[in-house]
Amino acid sequence: MSAPEPTGGSGRGAGPLGAPGALRGPADPEHDPTASYALEPAQVRTLTERVVSSTGRSEPTYCPFTGQPLAMIPQSSTQDVERAYARARRAQERWAATTIDERAARLLRLHDLLLERQAEITDMVCWESGKARKHAFDEPLHVALTARYYARTGHQHLDTTRKAGMVPGLTRVEVNRVPKGVVGIISPWNYPFTMALCDGLPALMAGNAVVHKPDAQTMLSALLGVRLLEEAGIPGDLWQVVAGPGPELGPAMIARSDYVCFTGSTATGRLIAKQCADRLIGCSLELGGKNPMLVLRDAQIDRAAEGAVRASFSNAGQLCVSMERMFVADQIYDRFVARFVERTRAMKLETGLDWGSDMGSLISQQQLDTVVAHIEDAVAKGARVLIGGSARPDIGPYYFEPTILEGVTPGMTCFGDETFGPVIALYRFHDEADAVARANAGGYGLNASIYSRDGARARALARRIRCGTVNINEAYAATFGSIDSPMGGMADSGIGRRQGSEGIHRYTESQSVATQRLIRLAPMLRMSDESYAKALTASMRLLNKLGRK
Ligand code: NAD
Repeated sequence: MSAPEPTGGSGRGAGPLGAPGALRGPADPEHDPTASYALEPAQVRTLTERVVSSTGRSEPTYCPFTGQPLAMIPQSSTQDVERAYARARRAQERWAATTIDERAARLLRLHDLLLERQAEITDMVCWESGKARKHAFDEPLHVALTARYYARTGHQHLDTTRKAGMVPGLTRVEVNRVPKGVVGIISPWNYPFTMALCDGLPALMAGNAVVHKPDAQTMLSALLGVRLLEEAGIPGDLWQVVAGPGPELGPAMIARSDYVCFTGSTATGRLIAKQCADRLIGCSLELGGKNPMLVLRDAQIDRAAEGAVRASFSNAGQLCVSMERMFVADQIYDRFVARFVERTRAMKLETGLDWGSDMGSLISQQQLDTVVAHIEDAVAKGARVLIGGSARPDIGPYYFEPTILEGVTPGMTCFGDETFGPVIALYRFHDEADAVARANAGGYGLNASIYSRDGARARALARRIRCGTVNINEAYAATFGSIDSPMGGMADSGIGRRQGSEGIHRYTESQSVATQRLIRLAPMLRMSDESYAKALTASMRLLNKLGRK
């Protein structure tokens, strides 16, 4: 990283352009490295015409690499939301009548399309979110993995299943998986392509329609995804897109949804949960985190240091599962920190669409302000900046250096609040029980990481960590990319799970159908109620003796 030397543990490292307060305004357009990537107005229109909008109003989105406007996005009103739901509902009735194999074939077509068009999608994601290419290329891949997984496992999750009946042999029970209907999806900006599509694919596979509100800052990536769905043969009206402020459109969506899938902040998640509760509809909430990484005394130091860089600075820390707290065993603390700082110093911060940059931009001035505020607060209260700590307007308007802090204490904002930026706090630990207790402290419970040479010991430790996912000798990608297993948060990090069977069953109602044969479940042949009760009781004793469930 062309960043300041470590300060030797005393105070902020000053960036070449001085204090973060100096950072305002766009980069010099003369040096706009994204100039080679310009969408023609017609190309923008092919995307934005998918937004259900009759308002005549548009709002600009901006390119974080430059801070310059990049496209005008038509805005939806609450009447447009109503229209979107009406269209989606009609489309869903037809879609629910298709077979699992027909739906799977479209998802497999989407899988291949995503791999063919990976470069185009990655360009769009970088351009619109400001992330480095090395943190964007996996977005289409993750969606392709999800499409293939649900296509190949559709029958496993959705076929009608037989269950044990009340009277063995005479009560035949089947459970159907019935689609909920129209699912409302509200997605964030940080993984604008993945988060737009990955939750909707199982909803479609299960026979639902989707009404989707992507974050206003990254509409084009989401709309590109929706176009690819159409190219893969998903009927156009089945996935509706609305655009506008969440507090305005969100309630209108929830009022008409049969289920809501939300990814975003814990504060917004709580509001959405309340609105869903009022309507007695289900929701899954994938929320924030303050994720801990534990580096045990037997960890391979270089591997852990390499993992720590990815864990802390992928997508400039704007990743729900990235690490913001790192607990390192006393025995290896100094060696590990030296390697981690060294690897961080070697990071290249560049702007643009090419490979080569190790970290991209924050998305906006607002994100930058939060990061700056957290660091200023921590430093003012005595935290030490080992490396980083400064904004880098010389690279782009919202660039901030990857930053490693020591000496963070409970009175500091970044001790427990999610920064959602490239900032990691290091803590020493002496015994593992203490490390686990500190990792579990605070309200969040999304993702954790453990580095150790002893897999069995690390897995045993994982069971004591209150997080929905735990990655051993990896930061987050091992669980996130394993679509067969559930992913989501405990406590303030959310409700429900994406991926695996839970990720698709949330979009279905289970319906039990029991067919009673030969005998009634009532006294027969002039049997008294009392004799019937005794016969039932005797049969229950017998079934228990036979070991039946
Ligand atoms: P946010 O909650 O402000 O916004 C997320 C989405 O919700 C956006 O589309 C926004 O327009 C919409 N929204 C905002 N207010 C709303 C309201 N009142 N009603 C309905 N919709 C509303 O989140 P953010 O700060 O932009 O995103 C970052 C947060 O998302 C971080 O906390 C991060 O940890 C979290 N996140 C979690 C996951 C996960 O899988 N757990 C993934 C990505 C991001």
